[in-house]
Formats: sequence, C-alpha cells, structure tokens
Amino acid sequence: MTRYIFITGGNVSSLGKGITSASIGRLLKARGINVSVIKIDPYLNVDAGTMNPFQHGEVYVTDDGAETDLDLGHYERFIDIELSKRNNVTTGQIYDSVIRNEREGKYLGGCVQVIPHITNEIKHRIRLAARESRAEVLLVEIGGTVGDIESQPYLEAIRQFRNEVGREHAINLHLTLVPFLGAAGELKTKLTQHSVKELRGIGIQPDLIVCRTKCALKEDVKAKISLFCDVPKECVISAPDTSEIYEVPMNFEKDGMADIILERLALKPEENELSDWKDMLDRLANPDGKVRIAVVGKYIQIRDSYLSILEALKHGGIANKVEVDSTLIDSSRLEKSAGLKLLEKANGVLVPGGFGTRGIEGKVRAVQYARENDVPFLGICLGMQSAVIEFARNVCGLRGAHSSEFDPETPHPVIDLMPDQRHISDKGGTMRLGSYPCVLASKSQAAQCYKKKNIEERHRHRFEFNNEYREKMGEQGLEFCGLSPDGRLVEIIEYPKNGFFVATQFHPEFKSRPTRPHPLFEGFIRAARGHAGV
Ligand code: GLN
Repeated sequence: MTRYIFITGGNVSSLGKGITSASIGRLLKARGINVSVIKIDPYLNVDAGTMNPFQHGEVYVTDDGAETDLDLGHYERFIDIELSKRNNVTTGQIYDSVIRNEREGKYLGGCVQVIPHITNEIKHRIRLAARESRAEVLLVEIGGTVGDIESQPYLEAIRQFRNEVGREHAINLHLTLVPFLGAAGELKTKLTQHSVKELRGIGIQPDLIVCRTKCALKEDVKAKISLFCDVPKECVISAPDTSEIYEVPMNFEKDGMADIILERLALKPEENELSDWKDMLDRLANPDGKVRIAVVGKYIQIRDSYLSILEALKHGGIANKVEVDSTLIDSSRLEKSAGLKLLEKANGVLVPGGFGTRGIEGKVRAVQYARENDVPFLGICLGMQSAVIEFARNVCGLRGAHSSEFDPETPHPVIDLMPDQRHISDKGGTMRLGSYPCVLASKSQAAQCYKKKNIEERHRHRFEFNNEYREKMGEQGLEFCGLSPDGRLVEIIEYPKNGFFVATQFHPEFKSRPTRPHPLFEGFIRAARGHAGV
C-alpha cells in the first residue's frame, strides 16, 4: 500500500519545492524505502517539450522519452532513480484526456465539469504513478503557488485523495518563505501565516511546514509558526539557504524531518544509510584544486537552461576531487574574433545542445578553438553537430558545410534531418526521444571512460550526422566511435589526435548522479584537471 506526501508551496515561486521533494526522497531512500515522485505542472502545455528554455529552463528527458520539467532531474539525481512519463502530470494532459473521453461519449450524457471530472482524472494519474512505480511512498509536488487559479483543481483533488486513501496514509507539507527584514532585525512569519490560511480555506491543513530562510529558524520563530498555523513545533522545519543544493537533505536530517514523516505515515524502517551521500559532500567540500570550464551556450541568461549539464560537470568534479568553475558564455560573443579571449582561461570547453540559427557560428568557433589548441572538449547534441560542421569546413575543406536545420541550401549538409522526421509536422513529442542503445568502438576515448562496449543514452533531436560524409571525414582523422547497433546512426564522434575530444548526439548529462558521476563527465573533467595541472 502506497503512502503519499503532498508538497505545496506558498508566497512566491522558486522557493525550492523541487529540491525539497528530492531531498525528502533521498532521506526516505536512505531508510530503505522505495520512493517515487510526481511533479504536477498546472500549465496547459501537454509537456515541457514545446517551451523554450527562456520560458522554462531545460527540458529534462526520461528514459522512456518524456520531455519533462527540470524538477524530474532533481528527483533522479538526488534519489538515484529512473522516472517515466507518468512522473510529470500537466493540466494539458488532464484536459486532453477528459475532452477525449467526452468526445468518445464515456461520460454517458453527463455534464462534464472541473469537479468531479477533472479532479477524478488528477486522482487517477496519481494512483497510476503509485501503481506503476510500486512506491511505498509517493511524493506529489504541486507546481505553482497556493492561491494561483491554475492550481486550484489540484489542491481540491489532493484534499479528496487523502480522504479516499485514509487520512493516516497521506500527509501535507507546505513550503513557505520566512524573510529577514533588516529594519526590524528579525525573521518575519506573517507570510507563512497567510499562506497556511489560504491553504486551509481550500480545506487542507498542513502537517509539516518547511520554511525557506537565510539562516536556520530559532526556537521562538518555530514556536510562533506552530501557534499560528496549528502544527506541532517539531513539524516546523528550517530550510536555510545553502551554497550547495546537495546539502539540503542533511539540513532536513538535522531537524529530524524524515523521522517525523515516517512516524506520521506509520512506517518503521530499520536502517539509515546516508554514508554515500556524506562521502559525496565531503569530496565536494574538499577539492584538491580548481578547473575552469567554458560552457558555450545560447540560452545563458537562464542558468536553469543548462541545469543538468552544470550538475553533471559538478559530478565530474566530485569524481576527480576538483572544484569545477563553470562559466556560461554566450556563443554569439565568439562570433567576433575578440570574443575568443573568453575561452583563454578555460581548461575545458563544453558546447551543449540547442535549436535555431542564432549563435551557431560562435559554437563552431568554440569547437575550432578547442580542436586547434588541444583543450579538452565535450560536445553534446547541437555541440556534436557543431563539431562536425567545424571539421567539415576547416579540416576537410568543405566550404559552406552546415546543418540543413540552419542552411537548407548548404552545398554540404553534413548534418541533415533524420529520414523518419521528414514527414512530421507536429512539434510536440515528435523528436527522436529517450533512451537508445549505442555500441562503442574499442580503444576509443569513450570506451575508456565507460569501461564497456554497450551503452544506452537519452536523446532529443531531429537532425543527425549525414552518412554520405562518413568516409571523407574519416579519412581526415575524425572517428565515429559510437554507433547505433545497426551501424546506421552516428552517436559519438572523436578526434583522437587531441587528448580529449568527444562529442555525442545524445545527452549524457541526464544520467549523471552526484553519487554516480557520468563516465564522460568524469573523463572530461579528468582531462581538464590534467590541462589545469592540478
Ligand atoms: N537542433 C538539433 C536537432 O534537432 C540539436 C538538438 C539538441 O541539441 N537537443 O537535431
């Protein structure tokens, strides 16, 4: 029988519900409990795949090819689990199902309404995720802020849900902001009181209140929140700011959060194994030195656009015991010669994924800089495509070589639309998505990193390497070291003349964990460490 933890947020967005949920998941897993998490996004998009990174940060891709909210990345990294399309529910999906049912006549002439049809569909999705994940505890994070019009049906659904599964089998956790007002010289609890009042108006009394603050809450502040919000004092938990997100579970552990949750849910685990997490934090806090990585992107104003990449670089640092100082560089700045100065200090250059023409020439220049100066290079998706374009133009002499995504008239479409993409017109959920197998060439840099031959990695793209250029580029020293099992699709290219020059059509960043760094990021940072002479 599954138990449920519903996580809501008050006051403002970006309070860290995702990291809170992920941290609780990690603490429960440490106690041997099988956990899963769903993120509910109250927007009308069916999934995050059609939103650009400026709107939404990165699109996180699961093994089964769902294009999801980036919080799923936090869950997978913190808890070290694999999630699926069932773990991200959106209003778009809910309404899509209900309207389809209505058209099929499934409601037998009834008038279709938010309550009960939409709320029933929400509850059905929560149950489905619980059943498929076989979770003992399912965390359900409701996106948005209490009081938003869009999240009301979800709050109503979780209110009903708790009664249906038995009140002792579910708890409500509410995350609020406790700001420090300089003029008064104290932490203020009124925002929390108002948010809880709003939640109660919908019929939900929180069992635990987690407070985002500058520093840990003192007993008197906890007592005040306890009194006004009607929760026991030990159920007021501090979530102080941390410089490192992976410290959050340990802060919750200090406040006894997991034990309180387990007691409420009548679960009695016997173990509490956090040593791998503590070892990881220890390595992170005590590096031998620093490496500088330039991430040459096109959505750099929004750091979340590259969230999984920045985390995976950090994981590579954990594996190599170095601090990774990642700087996001706008690729269009590299389009002017002076811009290349921005790369001078880098011990490694990473060119990540992206869509659309803007900034592509800067990405190509970044690859050229890394190749010509033998600076460790990792290219990901559009980063690999940029590396192919660069090599075609500057080494193979194929003038005007390009991807047909950016120049449909190019004389040398070294990157071209995948054949099964040619007749697709819908944008949502139609790319090559999710996990695919790949076979590595023995002795390649990739094989040395992975230490095995057969791998599976996650994809999200429409374009691919054009095999008509395989021979010509191979003759000039580019190696095709990772191929689909039928040998048709190029998944990894390398330039073995350089110390570390690897580019992948897939996204390795999605499978990296702080406690299990991804082999390619580990290898890339090892090479950067060598370059930095640490
Ligand atoms: N725009 C490229 C494609 O669709 C690369 C996609 C990406 O980097 N995720 O193939």
